[in-house]
Amino acid sequence: MTNTTESAVLRSVPTGLFIDGRWRDASGGATFPVNDPATGEVLVRVADATVADGTAALDAGVAAQSDWAATPPRERGELLRAAYELITSRTDELALLMTLEMGKPLAESRAEVAYGAEFFRWFSEEAVRVSGRWSTAPNGATRLLTMKQPVGPTLMITPWNFPLAMGTRKIGPAIAAGCTMVMKPASATLLPLLALADLLRECGLPDGVLNVITTSSTGAVIEPLIRDPRLRKLTFTGSTEVGRTLMEQASQQILRVSMELGGNAPFLVFGDADLDRAVDGAMLAKMRNMGEACTAANRFYVHESVAKEFSRRLAERMGALRLGRGTEDGVDVGPLVDEKSRDKVSALVDDAVSRGAEVLVGGRVLDGVGWFYRPTVLSGVPADARLVREEVFGPVAPVITFTGDEEAVRLANDTEYGLVAYLFTSDLSRALRVTEALEFGMVGVNQGIVSNPAAPFGGVKASGVGREGGCEGIEEYLETKYVGIAL
Ligand code: NAP
Repeated sequence: MTNTTESAVLRSVPTGLFIDGRWRDASGGATFPVNDPATGEVLVRVADATVADGTAALDAGVAAQSDWAATPPRERGELLRAAYELITSRTDELALLMTLEMGKPLAESRAEVAYGAEFFRWFSEEAVRVSGRWSTAPNGATRLLTMKQPVGPTLMITPWNFPLAMGTRKIGPAIAAGCTMVMKPASATLLPLLALADLLRECGLPDGVLNVITTSSTGAVIEPLIRDPRLRKLTFTGSTEVGRTLMEQASQQILRVSMELGGNAPFLVFGDADLDRAVDGAMLAKMRNMGEACTAANRFYVHESVAKEFSRRLAERMGALRLGRGTEDGVDVGPLVDEKSRDKVSALVDDAVSRGAEVLVGGRVLDGVGWFYRPTVLSGVPADARLVREEVFGPVAPVITFTGDEEAVRLANDTEYGLVAYLFTSDLSRALRVTEALEFGMVGVNQGIVSNPAAPFGGVKASGVGREGGCEGIEEYLETKYVGIAL
């Protein structure tokens, strides 16, 4: 049951479609439920967009594009800065919404609000730094002018695991660059982005610049938009499987795409690592968001000389975590997002155990209401266990030993994914050598978290195309136009 504060916060969120600066019902009047994963209770019902609503959202974005592109960068930047301040002042409400629909503890939700808001602050500063180039052609005859212009109307699709930050990481640079948007948040966790759209309206975002649609017929509503020749860009964060399908659809009109997809992060602990630091890093890399993160450490490769001690300490820390509804005080670990996710985690652990892995702590679901899985450490995990290949997306740490640096790198790279890797060593040369050999878009050296609005976030191989954040992030929303000038 929700209490009075929770009910008040839920009532304050608009639950319609945000199209052309106004909240409205879906054209058929249909709605679908948003549930609390800790209790299964329906929190609210939100508008269920049809194909016609999707098209109306794109119509609004297309109509607003040229005025928005012509709006002075300083105005766009100041709007983002005002929104940053407003998000920050509403941290508690936004965090509560996130915890209610997603399950993570309030402290983690507050951290996500701060992280998500930072993208607006960062890109408020980037908005006025977009520039081109002027040069002389090598033969001296002509001049080369290079200018940057907004890509144009952009379709954004976000996942459920970071309901606010995955949105601000796209909306921030698009506003800064002068692109209009149609945003489709994940159906399981959409309230923070609905609240954000209203907050941007309050800050004076012009009508049609951001349009938000929610739908339970995702594929049917999205595909016509991707195939619409007025759309100029698709930016997607989610699973590799869905990303692949969307890239196929986007290929029909050679749509520009950014893809932030799945991960299978290795976490390397060398024999000379500071073990206290490595265990702290492991807790962060594994347990941020209950393991439901694309950056979550999925495979722990530990040098044989320290594997036993590392596993013991990690199991002790994991075993001490308190499970519960994210809104309760003192809770470290909330439920997983839904039954299917919990069952997948359970099946992956059972598979590893059936192939000979040993359970040091956890290893089973928590009985009772809600989709809880106990924080788990497994040792002696064989290379053919499914959880070595697949994203676990839950609080499970499989430990595998290695004997030499080359073997560690080979094991780490032996995956179709390439988002992030972590390594712990006291030897700077080893850290640099191994970093250069790792086929990943990001590497954390002696730290268990890499996400930072000022850094380019993104992967290689099946983990995606493009970068979000840093000075690279705004480039995803800009086209380069070259002008040859004869003198
Ligand atoms: P998902 O199932 O791929 O869904 C992501 C989004 O795609 C949701 O909004 C979903 O809508 C939508 N979608 C699903 N099928 C679609 C279709 N046929 N056409 C258009 N849109 C479609 O991923 P998820 O389970 O939400 O998120 C977890 C995944 O995201 C993990 O693999 C994780 O690694 C990845 N992730 C990557 C990053 C990164 O930056 N690299 C960050 C966070 C998460 P519905 O909700 O309506 O189904």
